[in-house]
Amino acid sequence: MRVVNIIAITALVSLVALWLGKYKYFSKKNAVLITVLCIGLGGGSLLAAVLPNTILDTNIIVGREIKDSPGNKIITLTFDDGPYSPYTQQILEALKRADIKATFFMVAEEAEKQPNLVKAVVTAGHEIGLHANEHKDYLKLSHEEAYEEISIGKKILERLTGQPVKYWRPPHGFKDTTVFSVAEKTGLTIVNWTVSPRDWTGISAEEIATRTLQDAKNGNIVLLHDGDSPKKQASRIETIKAIPLIAKDLREAGFNFVTVTENINARK
Ligand SMILES: [Zn+2]
Repeated sequence: MRVVNIIAITALVSLVALWLGKYKYFSKKNAVLITVLCIGLGGGSLLAAVLPNTILDTNIIVGREIKDSPGNKIITLTFDDGPYSPYTQQILEALKRADIKATFFMVAEEAEKQPNLVKAVVTAGHEIGLHANEHKDYLKLSHEEAYEEISIGKKILERLTGQPVKYWRPPHGFKDTTVFSVAEKTGLTIVNWTVSPRDWTGISAEEIATRTLQDAKNGNIVLLHDGDSPKKQASRIETIKAIPLIAKDLREAGFNFVTVTENINARK
């Protein structure tokens, strides 16, 4: 069942229980108990859908820690919400200087406006996954709307890159049964993350690098941003400045940088 339906049903059951308690059809104690249970179930379902690394992430790729590998550690940098000029170009330059191949989760309608930038990402040897057609909240879309959005977005990116698109990171990392079903129907593997330095919150490059190093474990996937929503248009300069710091800190800690595909293959 979808998270929105669970929330609607638990809210309705709570209201009915409170009403029955108020008019003494059963005890107020029972009415409160049912309400608390409903709040727990509704709230818990919502948190499982919107927070990273919850029980709903069990079957999706999030870069869980690889514990049994004696060799070098691996880590994957991912960039969301682009392409976004001039920051995507500057991220490409920073990644080239740091000799890092990364994975970009692009917004297809933005990609369509900047086909040369999409090609530049591919030519530089990075991997491209789908973030969305338009950056929407998929918990609020119907199954048909979500399927349509993802099918369109996938086709656009495949046309622009000339390559099959294999991965999908739903906006905000939100997931529920519809997101899982749409991924299956479109042949996409959902990829979220295990490390988020929250680079979109206006923190410094040093803080982005410190948080990444602090949380990084073998096999993790790091969430960063080259883009932003067309409404906010925030600068990504601190993320760009963080790349050489992340490269130095993590390499000193024994990490190799790999793409999402290489991260998945390292587990086989
Ligand atoms: Zn996003």
